[in-house]
Amino acid sequence: MRGNHGYNQESIQDMNRTLLISLLRKEGICARAHLANLSMLKQATVTNIMNDFINWGVVKEVGFLVGSKGRRSIGISINNDDYGVIGIRLGRKNYTVGLFDLSGNLVDHRRREVDAGPKPRAIFDKIKREAKDLMKLAKQGERKVIAAGIAIPGPYSERRGRIELMTGVSGWNEISIQEELTEDLQLPVFVEQDANAGALAQYWHKEEDYKNNVLVYIADGQGVGAGIISNGELLKGSIGVAGEIGHTSICFNGPKCACGNFGCLENYCSSIAFTKKVNEELKSEKELSFSETAKLVQDGNEKAVDIFMESCDNLSVGIVNVINSFNPAFIVIGDDMAHIAPDLMLERIKKDVEERVLPEIYANMDISMSVVSSDSMVHGAAIVAIMDIFSHPGKYFEQESG
Ligand SMILES: [Zn+2]
Repeated sequence: MRGNHGYNQESIQDMNRTLLISLLRKEGICARAHLANLSMLKQATVTNIMNDFINWGVVKEVGFLVGSKGRRSIGISINNDDYGVIGIRLGRKNYTVGLFDLSGNLVDHRRREVDAGPKPRAIFDKIKREAKDLMKLAKQGERKVIAAGIAIPGPYSERRGRIELMTGVSGWNEISIQEELTEDLQLPVFVEQDANAGALAQYWHKEEDYKNNVLVYIADGQGVGAGIISNGELLKGSIGVAGEIGHTSICFNGPKCACGNFGCLENYCSSIAFTKKVNEELKSEKELSFSETAKLVQDGNEKAVDIFMESCDNLSVGIVNVINSFNPAFIVIGDDMAHIAPDLMLERIKKDVEERVLPEIYANMDISMSVVSSDSMVHGAAIVAIMDIFSHPGKYFEQESG
């Protein structure tokens, strides 16, 4: 605990544990002595903490490593078999529930589409059931689920524990997501805005590149949002809704948005806006779904490609606003729209951005497409939970020993 009284013994131990398990995760497999070098902790401290971790089943020994002078030492790594977390991603038109190991690797998952019909209450109940099913499956495989994270479309008020606005879907603001999940799953549950979760997923996998810098993850999906990580910390804002770039305007006299603003970015480049536009332009008899319209782009349908490009151009305007606001070194673009034609999208956005920002700024930044997984946000949801586990290992595992 930070405070006027300094650090007590217990919190020092927690900090050392956190440091070591984080280092071990990044190293993959290594020897205790190597961890002592990296952490600058005493060998005895490392040995004691690793003994606890091994007793708890968080770390395991994985045979011998041969060092530079031919000396053999026992290799250790995070035990990815005994514990797990649940990651949930709630979208406007679908949801994903996944089981992850302690390193943040996906073990099993279900993605479900949601029709326009069912109300948030019914969808939420289904999500809870799927999460419990996955926990049951995990248990059959002798994996104990110890925490859960959920990534939700913002703006989400952390203080109220509720989604304040989900464009195009009403009723979510009546559900206490965290409270209900905690009670139902009987687990610590962490809620994060989806783009923030996506940013954390990127950061988790490439921390070496991103630390001491500004990373912005842009989720271009059913809504548009940004997760901003500066020097390893998420920028959350005063009530936790920073990064809602979907509701920044790119056209001051554009159509009015449900948030109150006019010409909001997400109404020009989200997957919902894109699908709607393709349907309007193609005047097809049957309304095409997002994946059908995406397929048209991939198949080279001229009209669909034009609309996709226009959507990229619109997103670029939003990205330029982000660049001039936060001066990021890294921008990573993810979510549904980013998976239609990643190379095409990246090329177009880079060209647009280069034209619109100062050369000095452009020369010192990098734009790329998300490579973490097809859904960095469900990944990120799990990582939010794992981060808490790694921050307080004692809280999760101490009672397991004996
Ligand atoms: Zn808006």
